[in-house]
Amino acid sequence: MKVLIATEKPFAAAAVEGIRKEIEGAGHELALLEKYTETAQLLDAVKDVDALIIRSDKATAEVFDAAKNLKIVVRAGAGYDNIDLAAATAHNVVAENTPGQNSNAVAELVLGLLVYGARNFYNGKSGSELMGKKLGILAFGNVGRNVARIAKGFGMEIYAYDAFCPKEVIEAAGVKAVDNQDALFETCDIVSLHIPATPETKQSINYALVNKMHKGATLINTARKEVINEPELIKLMNEREDLKFITDIKPDADAEFAKFEGRYFSTPKKMGAQTAEANINAGIAAAKQINAFFANGDTKFQVNK
Ligand code: NAD
Repeated sequence: MKVLIATEKPFAAAAVEGIRKEIEGAGHELALLEKYTETAQLLDAVKDVDALIIRSDKATAEVFDAAKNLKIVVRAGAGYDNIDLAAATAHNVVAENTPGQNSNAVAELVLGLLVYGARNFYNGKSGSELMGKKLGILAFGNVGRNVARIAKGFGMEIYAYDAFCPKEVIEAAGVKAVDNQDALFETCDIVSLHIPATPETKQSINYALVNKMHKGATLINTARKEVINEPELIKLMNEREDLKFITDIKPDADAEFAKFEGRYFSTPKKMGAQTAEANINAGIAAAKQINAFFANGDTKFQVNK
């Protein structure tokens, strides 16, 4: 089978090496398309491949049309909103992600950003501590669980809401499960977003919801920018000078948010998963999943079932 790694932003060399070892070790062929600048290059490269590994690259209907032999596409990472799932299904292609491989990286960044925010972005003025603060985790998936694990070490009081994860699972992790999203925002000093970008969640973090938070609250987003209703959050931050917003994903309205000096911070690029460890883990997991699929039809991580 021919497996293509197609990455506008390449994997680290060690990750490519690890993927090659897995793929060639299983008797398959590995091809590489890195730093491509035109969609046409991708469309040409996928023509004869059986499997595709991507990062944030867009697997559109056009890509599936061009990839006549494609049987499986794996997004090395957690979010898979860059894959047109309907098109994958229509072409009988299994679409997978590699959940959990970068979740510690994102969670460590969350706590780092929270310390940075609590200490007034290191401006030299007295800040506050995380110990004893109420942290609300919106979605108790792989990242949310790691955030809870690390936040415990800071002595935070941790709450979570997840639309699909049973309350017992949340409570078993030593976290207080709340009944709904509103309750999480009403209860917590800090809310950390870990929901995927879906039709239900897009634009769902809006004026009414964030306005339920206490005075002096912080919203932190390391999920996807699409989950935030930016105009409504800007309106609220204009009205409430006590609110802080921190993110590792530059909002579309970055320039407008930047006016909230001392209350807004965005990393220059999406950084949550940008660690050597996460890069290697996700790439190798993608290769192993492809090998398992070709060896015995394993579709454990399929997201277009
Ligand atoms: P995950 O799939 O392990 O967990 C997602 C959780 O969201 C699940 O527990 C699910 O039940 C829950 N959920 C789904 N819809 C919900 C809703 N409407 N309301 C409440 N809960 C809901 O994913 P993860 O690895 O924890 O990652 C979470 C998200 O973080 C990803 O979808 C991705 O968009 C984002 N992410 C960002 C970075 C980054 O670099 N900043 C890196 C990895 C992931």
